[in-house]
Amino acid sequence: MLSGFGGNFAQEYVQRCRALLQMGKMMRSIAKKLTLLSATLLLVACVTTNSVTGRSQFITIPASQDAALGLEAMNEVKKTAPVVTKGAMAERIKRIGERIAAISDRPDLDWEFVVIDEPVLNAWALPGGKVAVYAKMAESFPSDDELAAVMGHEIAHAVLRHGAEQMSRAQMQNLLILGAGVAVGVATEDEQNTQMAIGLASLATAGFVQLPHSRKMELEADHVGAIYMAKAGYDPRGAVRLWQHMKTLKEGAQQPTFLSTHPSDDNRIARLEGRMDEYLTYYQK
Ligand SMILES: [Zn+2]
Repeated sequence: MLSGFGGNFAQEYVQRCRALLQMGKMMRSIAKKLTLLSATLLLVACVTTNSVTGRSQFITIPASQDAALGLEAMNEVKKTAPVVTKGAMAERIKRIGERIAAISDRPDLDWEFVVIDEPVLNAWALPGGKVAVYAKMAESFPSDDELAAVMGHEIAHAVLRHGAEQMSRAQMQNLLILGAGVAVGVATEDEQNTQMAIGLASLATAGFVQLPHSRKMELEADHVGAIYMAKAGYDPRGAVRLWQHMKTLKEGAQQPTFLSTHPSDDNRIARLEGRMDEYLTYYQK
């Protein structure tokens, strides 16, 4: 009886194990296919060609959402940062910004230009045309041509949807990291392998996907920004002076280009000088 039961049990156990193994294989194959499929679908659905640059961009956020995203983020900034919208400095930023935005490829955006009263050498643009320049940046450049280079660069970022592109890249990066971890984890059923795969995927995507594209966006904004400032009647040679001046202001804090998301000042100066004849034709018109 015992042996009989034992025999049946052992047989049943082996059969169940086989069924489970079979199911495991099926699940693994489905998981791999799903990861590949969703990644492929996302890539195909979200690659668009930018009408200004002709470059293919991977963007998961619909253009119709840019305005709402930018407005929401700007309202958050206004709650926490010393945003200035009145006074001589704010008027100057607004005047230069509006003049450049009007001749940009997106004069229709709901543009807003503000000053953040902090001793920071920076400026930024949010999706949908919300631009901020920090007080130290505005004070450091008494010449409108140099400040126009800052504004032209930020306006170009907004027109070219670089913010939405960066956000989409971050989303994709997370998905890839997760996908790699899941695929390796499912394939090897090993927690340590999963962690290692996630670590390697993070490094690979940060180094080879994120950084070079951020640099590409910066140089693209320099180029399109120089065209915009020149078309608006600001001397594009101001852009070269801006980066030369920035170099002296930042002296000692330089990061090697390879590790930084921003191109080195020398690199952007050389590129701007290389195309100065083209920018000057817009200026002289
Ligand atoms: Zn930039």
